[in-house]
Amino acid sequence: MTARRLLMLGPPGAGKGTQALRLLKKLGVPQISTGDMLREAVASDSPVGREARSYMEAGKLVPDEVVIGVARERLAQPDCADGFILDGFPRTVAQAEALDEILEELGCALESCVALDVDEDALVERLLRRAQIEGRSDDNEETIRTRMQEYRSKTAPLIDHYRRAGVLVEVDGLGEIAEISRRIEEAIGA
Ligand code: ADP
Repeated sequence: MTARRLLMLGPPGAGKGTQALRLLKKLGVPQISTGDMLREAVASDSPVGREARSYMEAGKLVPDEVVIGVARERLAQPDCADGFILDGFPRTVAQAEALDEILEELGCALESCVALDVDEDALVERLLRRAQIEGRSDDNEETIRTRMQEYRSKTAPLIDHYRRAGVLVEVDGLGEIAEISRRIEEAIGA
C-alpha cells in the first residue's frame, strides 16, 4: 500500500520541497511546508511572522513552540485527513515528539519518513545558485553555513528517531529530479 502520511527529511537544499511538490501531484495530498508558512507569516507581518523573522534571517531555527503551533493548526485542517507530505517539519527532537502527539490526537500516525541523502558540498553549491535565481533573503553564504550547522546538530538526530519508529526510508538524493522522484515512489510503494 502507498504511504500517504509522509515526512521529507534532509539538509537545506536537498530538494525536499521539489520532491514534495512532485509527490503531491501523484498522491493528491497537501504539502505542508513550515518554511513557506513562516515566510508567508513574515510577509503579512502576523504575530507568528514577527516572532520568526529574526531567526529566519539569521539561518537559525525558529523556536519550537512557534513552529509546533503552526504545524498543529495546519494538520487539523480537513484536507489533511487523508494524508499529507510534511516538508521542513519536524526539525528538532522536541518537534518530532510533538508531531507524534498531534498525530495521535488526530487518530493517525506517520507512515513513512523519506530521508534524502545528499553530499554537503553539493548542497552549498545548489543553495548559492538558488540564491541568485530566487533571491531568498536567507540564501547567502553565512546563513547557508548556519542552516547546515543547525541541520547537523538539531535535525539529523531525527533520522534515528524515525528509524526506531520503523518508518525510515533512505533515498539517494543526488541525480536527476525525475530519477530521485522514481526512487522515492519506489521506496513508499507509490
Ligand atoms: P531550507 O530547508 O531550504 O533551509 P525552509 O524553507 O524549509 O528552508 O526553511 C527556512 C527557514 O524557516 C529555516 O532556516 C528556519 O529558520 C525556518 N523554519 C522552517 N521550518 C522550521 C521548523 N520546523 N523549525 C524551526 N524553524 C523552521
